Amino acid sequence: MSTMTSFLPRGRLWQLIDALRARGFRCIGPQVREGAIVYADLADADQLPAGVLVEQAPGAYRLRRDASARQFAWANGPQALKPFLFAPRETLWHARREADGGIAFAEQFSDGAPIAVIGVRACDLAALALQDAHFLEQQYVDAWYAARRRNLFLVAVECSHPAATCFCASTGDGPQVRQGSDITLVELEDGFVARHGSERGAELLAALQLPQADAAQEEQAQAQTDAAAAAQTRSLPSRNLREGLLASLDHPRWDDVASRCLSCGNCTAVCPTCFCHAQREAPRLDGDATEHVREWDSCFTRGHSYLHGFTVRPDTRTRYRQWLVHKLGTWHDQYGRSGCVGCGRCIAWCPVGIDLTEEAAALVEAGE
Ligand code: SF4
Ligand code: SF4
Repeated sequence: MSTMTSFLPRGRLWQLIDALRARGFRCIGPQVREGAIVYADLADADQLPAGVLVEQAPGAYRLRRDASARQFAWANGPQALKPFLFAPRETLWHARREADGGIAFAEQFSDGAPIAVIGVRACDLAALALQDAHFLEQQYVDAWYAARRRNLFLVAVECSHPAATCFCASTGDGPQVRQGSDITLVELEDGFVARHGSERGAELLAALQLPQADAAQEEQAQAQTDAAAAAQTRSLPSRNLREGLLASLDHPRWDDVASRCLSCGNCTAVCPTCFCHAQREAPRLDGDATEHVREWDSCFTRGHSYLHGFTVRPDTRTRYRQWLVHKLGTWHDQYGRSGCVGCGRCIAWCPVGIDLTEEAAALVEAGE
């Protein structure tokens, strides 16, 4: 694969979307909906959030407008890639009572229709690698996830405007895109420096017959991404907090955070790496059929740790501790790294503004 870097003028971005659609992809891209930037079906580049900036802080997410033509001058919205691969709710199988009294079971697989997502960030590609490790690389492969993952095309955009809640530079996951994209764009005022990350990305860029990026454009793109890393003010104390957190299991800070935490589960819903789920039956009222449904769950719910007559984690203190110690500590045992990619979503979307970087720092300093 050659490593040529192209330049995609802003006025030709629609051609990239058209080329993906011509290859059979349903295109998804960032758009403004109800005061947030979310991923939605994209028919045209005009739907992208031009001139939209996002201010994020603990417990706060606000859109702001400016006169810029930039379409990706924001860090991230509440969604990552997670809902497109690990569905928030889906039927895994059906059961139906037969005329002879027997029961017939039938699996229901996702169709795995090809999807192209435009505007994916480096932290979300790192999270995708972690979800792949969980759903595809363990003893059992999740067939529903695998079908969708097979047909995913990813157009990444390196962040130029990190939020105050971002800390991907500290976790080593961004803002530069180093893995997982088919095409990576860096947005400049008049267009995008574009490089491919896969053969099909190279084929698509070649088909657009773009000019080569010049040295000044490449330098500007690199400087912009470096500046986005340098602008981040939050960080975790270390990329491996396993020992420090395990040494702090009885620290009074857990009571302190529990007095603020609502056990609402927002942090786990927006986290791009959280994979906990519950399964339940949804029977028809006539009792002749049922659907077996999988839904996102959270370690903050009472039911998630319910086992044969008792709840393992009965209060917010033990649930928050489970979330943080697993995410930043014992993920290392399971997947060889922390479960946090530094996207900052759990900080911005926590209704009471709990900041895991602050909690981790308080606990680990105490434990070390
Ligand atoms: S723990 Fe928070 S900052 Fe880390 S990946 Fe999850 S949502 Fe993002
Ligand atoms: S940390 Fe925040 S978002 Fe997470 S459960 Fe507690 S209150 Fe909800």
